[in-house]
Parts: sequence; structure tokens; C-alpha cells
Amino acid sequence: MTLPKYAYFQGNIVPYSEAKVGVLTHALNYGTAAFGGLRGYWNEDEQQLYLFRPHDHFKRLLNSARLLCMEFEHTPESLTQVTMDLLRQESYKEDVYIRPLVYKADEIIGVKLHGLTDEISIVALPFGRYVANDTNAHVTFSSWRRIDDNVIPARGKISGAYVNSAFIKTDALRAGFDEALVLTQDGHLSEGSAENVFMIREGVLITPPVTDNVLEGITRRSVLELAVNELGLPVEERHIDRTEVYLCEELFLTGTAAQVTAVTRVNHRDIGAGVMEPYTTRLRELFGKAVRGQLEAYRKWVEPVY
Ligand code: PMP
Repeated sequence: MTLPKYAYFQGNIVPYSEAKVGVLTHALNYGTAAFGGLRGYWNEDEQQLYLFRPHDHFKRLLNSARLLCMEFEHTPESLTQVTMDLLRQESYKEDVYIRPLVYKADEIIGVKLHGLTDEISIVALPFGRYVANDTNAHVTFSSWRRIDDNVIPARGKISGAYVNSAFIKTDALRAGFDEALVLTQDGHLSEGSAENVFMIREGVLITPPVTDNVLEGITRRSVLELAVNELGLPVEERHIDRTEVYLCEELFLTGTAAQVTAVTRVNHRDIGAGVMEPYTTRLRELFGKAVRGQLEAYRKWVEPVY
């Protein structure tokens, strides 16, 4: 991976090599940080880089920060502005991924959340696909359970909680799958290791509710809107049983990194005919256009950098 040239660090844009923390940093030792992940999409025709829903991403980041008892002067607007400045300085003309991080910066011993120094960093780097087989992924059910909201807030993107995602993903990849689905403590479908999950059954688009320990995904929200407005699909947010997944007609994952990833096999069982099916195909096309500012009705989601 090529490293970025710059970073927003301690209130300024500095050369990336100067954005360093010490080994005693609280967040590094205890996972007391939260991160975001948003994409910028290059539109070749317009020679423009579009940020996808930056305000929603930064609002969620600041909510994660609140869960960690952090206090910042920043607003979603000011963080969007900093990101724009950073991207202009990098002068990227390709698809990028932006990684903001809020973290407990003190170099001290002691596990707690309050009375510590909170910092924000942001970096951006070129980025393509995340799930290699994004039109025909083969997934399994993880033997790990998704963290419960009463263990670590699942609706925050809390760094320490991603050890759970890392277990899920590593075991899935080592077993030869592309990704894994993970269940809640009571055995309902929650999400993927870093994606929300949707299925189509009897022509209805179904996804677990935000109370099933899912991250409140911004791609999830976008896909729900596209499905209702553009495809006229009925939508249900409800608990999903494991065996419903084996019987559904279509299955896909959504996320900033994964975008809309079609899942065509689960534990060696074909979903539908075992190929990407029509609704998933349509949603991928619509989402792919919306993020590059190519759908007039969804220009509200994108913000030009240049
Ligand atoms: N669930 C988890 C655990 C994630 O890490 C992500 C990626 N941020 C998602 C779902 C998808 O969220 P979004 O669409 O906002 O990227």
C-alpha cells in the first residue's frame, strides 16, 4: 500500500511522516478510539472527485466519539472542510478512501474514558475493491458472535471492537471463504465482518434492524432509499433467522469498502441460481452511479472536492 503524502494531525495538515504517536498512547493500548471510513469517487467525465455523504459519515464519527466520552469543537461541516483541504493537497484524481480517527491521545497507564485528551487525525489514500469477488462472493457463518451493544457499543465504530471483526474475517479467509456473516448472541443474523447484510425473500428486501447490534451503515441507508424509490421494493427491517439465509433468493452485503457485494453462495449452498440476481445487479448499478454524481436525484449525497 502506498502511504499518503499528508495527514491531518493535531489540528494541522502535516507530512504523513510527522503524524506519529508514542507507544504509550491510550488508544493504542486500550482500543479507546473510533474511526470512520468514507470514499471519494473520481468522475472522469467531469474531472471531479466526489465525496460520498461526508456529513453523514462525520456525524456518525462524532456520535462514536460521544459514546467514548470525547469532546470536540469540530462539526460534520468542519471535518468535511478539513477533508476537502487534505484531498486538494494530495490532488488525487482517482477513487480514494478517507480514514478519520478520533482517539485518546494521553501517554498514561489506566483504563477509563473520562478526563483524557481527545485528538482527531484524517488521512486519504487511493483505494479500489475490498471484497475480491464482489459479484459472486462465497460466505460462511462465523463461529464468533457479533459484539453486543452492552459489551461495546455496536453502533459506534469503536476501534477496540474491530478485534471481533478481525477474528471473523481471518477465520473466514483461512477457511477459503470471501467473507463471513455473524450472528447476535441470540442467534439472529447481524451483519458481515464490516458490512451490513440484505436478503430478498418473496420479492421483499429484508435487513436486520439497527437494534440487532449492527453498525448503522451509511451504504445501508442509501441502498434502502434506492430500493424503495427506484425499484419500488417493499422493505422490512426485522430479525433474520440463519436458515432464511439458505432459502433466500438474493443476498448482498453493503459497506463503504464493500459497496454492494453480491453473495451467491453461503456454506457451499447456492443462493438463488448461484449467480448475481436482478435486484442486486440493479442496486449495484444505481449505487455505482449515485456515488459518482451521475444520478440527478441523488446529487444531494455527493460533494465535489475540486
Ligand atoms: N458494519 C460494520 C461492522 C462496518 O465496519 C461497516 C463499515 N463501516 C459497515 C457495517 C458498513 O457501514 P457503512 O456503509 O457506513 O460503511
